[in-house]
Amino acid sequence: MEQVANKTKNVVVIGGGVAGSLLAKSIQFHSNLVLIDPKEYYDIPWTDNRSRVEPTFAEKALIKHSEYLSNGTIINSRAIDITATEVFTDEGLVVPYDFLVLATGHDVPLPRTKTDRLQQFKQDYEKIKCAKSILIIGGGRTGVELAGEIVTDFPDKKVTLVHKGPRLLEFLGVKASTKAMKWLKSKKFEVLLEQTVDIDLDDSVGEFKTSAGKTISADCHFVATGKAVGSGWLRKTILKDMLDEHGRLKVDDKLRVIGHDKIFAIGDITNVKEMKLGYIAQEHATVVAKNINLLMKKGSEKESKGLSSYKPGSAITVVSLGRKNAVGQLPFMTVSGCLPTMFKSKDLFLGWTRKVMGLHP
Ligand SMILES: Cc1cc2nc3c(=O)[nH]c(=O)nc-3n(C[C@H](O)[C@H](O)[C@H](O)COP(=O)(O)OP(=O)(O)OC[C@H]3O[C@@H](n4cnc5c(N)ncnc54)[C@H](O)[C@@H]3O)c2cc1C
Repeated sequence: MEQVANKTKNVVVIGGGVAGSLLAKSIQFHSNLVLIDPKEYYDIPWTDNRSRVEPTFAEKALIKHSEYLSNGTIINSRAIDITATEVFTDEGLVVPYDFLVLATGHDVPLPRTKTDRLQQFKQDYEKIKCAKSILIIGGGRTGVELAGEIVTDFPDKKVTLVHKGPRLLEFLGVKASTKAMKWLKSKKFEVLLEQTVDIDLDDSVGEFKTSAGKTISADCHFVATGKAVGSGWLRKTILKDMLDEHGRLKVDDKLRVIGHDKIFAIGDITNVKEMKLGYIAQEHATVVAKNINLLMKKGSEKESKGLSSYKPGSAITVVSLGRKNAVGQLPFMTVSGCLPTMFKSKDLFLGWTRKVMGLHP
């Protein structure tokens, strides 16, 4: 006979991003759920660049945690420490847990309220609209996708993209980088590789010098360099020895932090050897929701029998190039044109992501 879930168990999720928000939503009716996130909303990272050129897009792309959590407690604070039984926040709260889930993928300082985040997108839009020339620093996913959005909506702007590495989109294969570069050049972008720009030195004057000595005139700039893993705050906690050299948490195949039966980690913060992607973070959330539900039924976190394992598969990733183009990498091939465009660029998975969260697309 199936046991009834023990609703008195406290499950605390730290991080309301792609992975944490889905986990919180999935487990809210089976536990005393607490979600800790400094923001009152879930910011879908792959929609942000479109919101910079079309601020109304953000209305649906910023999902308040209260929209999908009707049966949990939301704490808008930053976690700063944990013990084997409690989480401490920067506002002095102490939150007890039976099961803890760490989902602090990337720590990007964002406004606390949705209203302020919308305002930020409007300011970026005005900045782009008013500028004749724009500098983008960073040729990874964020920089290239932002470039694509700008050229689509503002084709008359002069855009320069500076990238430190030898090719764009270094996390993808060479073919994908070449396709993205060709596309940007066809749109009259200037792309400078193997150079950096020190913003702190140049910001106010509208002229920027690259490490190779080239001067770029730009009315505004965007920094799109890599974001740090959101684990800095764990360095002085009981998990400090479970961080690998990249600051990622070491987990077992059940996605439990090694040596800690009650603590799970999901999403980009884990050291699972795979591409760091949102849909994969959501798969982690699904596995951990199942495991915590089962452990709550069993009544013992030490009982591993029956727990689901997470097995990394081959990743599929698409980088949008505005609304009408994209470059994608499947396990054995690189694709561009209609297929990846239909897949991502049109609405940047917004409708699908909202559906996953149980909301109207
Ligand atoms: C431009 C761009 C395009 C992308 N395109 C795709 C795509 O097409 N497909 C795809 O699958 N993936 C894509 N990704 C990758 C995807 O966004 C990430 O893999 C995903 O966001 C990881 O989810 P996460 O929950 O682990 O972390 P995040 O989404 O980064 O969420 C982390 C959360 O933790 C919170 N947090 C941080 N520190 C603390 C703390 N101390 N206390 C409390 N809360 C904290 C943050 O506020 C945030 O809410 C893209 C990323 C970018 C930037």
